[in-house]
Amino acid sequence: MVMMLGAVLAGCGGGGSGDNGAGSPVSPPRATGPATSPPSPSGPPRFTADIKKVSRPDLKYSWREGCPVPVSGLRAIDMNHWGMDGKVHNGRLIVNASAAEELTGVFHKLFDRKYPIARMEPVDKYRGSDFDSIEANNTSAFNCRQATGSGSWSQHAYGLAVDINPCENPYVSADGTISHKDCVKYKDRSLDVPGLIHRGDKTVQAFADIGWGWGGNWTGVKDYQHFSSNGR
Ligand SMILES: [Zn+2]
Repeated sequence: MVMMLGAVLAGCGGGGSGDNGAGSPVSPPRATGPATSPPSPSGPPRFTADIKKVSRPDLKYSWREGCPVPVSGLRAIDMNHWGMDGKVHNGRLIVNASAAEELTGVFHKLFDRKYPIARMEPVDKYRGSDFDSIEANNTSAFNCRQATGSGSWSQHAYGLAVDINPCENPYVSADGTISHKDCVKYKDRSLDVPGLIHRGDKTVQAFADIGWGWGGNWTGVKDYQHFSSNGR
């Protein structure tokens, strides 16, 4: 963790200088003391995020011809997050370019309150399998697939939906079925376990602040892991 923070600082502090100010012989005034202390290496970890373009090989399994958004319309958010182990981890979320900034803000809020995320990897790590990604309790966004039990595009196919901790926050079909047996116990939404999203809590609120709706508010089917730009 300390090493990671150090790397981040090195990455941010490398630029600057090189300002030769028209060759003035007078040295610029030197501060007698730093106005702000540099962050202590032992200080609390800070949220870092970098929004990057992606290319076709990055999305080998999750994107194909005919998807409703071109590869150029997607971005990777490389960011850190708290894990279930109380440590900070690096994650990557593939999202619609139009939502990348706002979603970064949402995850910044989640980081600041130490909301734990089990893992955050592109579904390509699971060869595009939504089932396998959920089985690994993976938090993800873009996946060019149809909505569960439907013939139309999922909001995930646009990169405009995020599934968070899908085991603690399962998809519950209208008849109450949960497809992942290790996650059946989380049908009880009164449980107070790390990562479990409750109606109206700060995770739901962070998404609501950017206008995104929560699948836990649906009637019939409940999709407690699911947040999307249009609420579907
Ligand atoms: Zn979803």
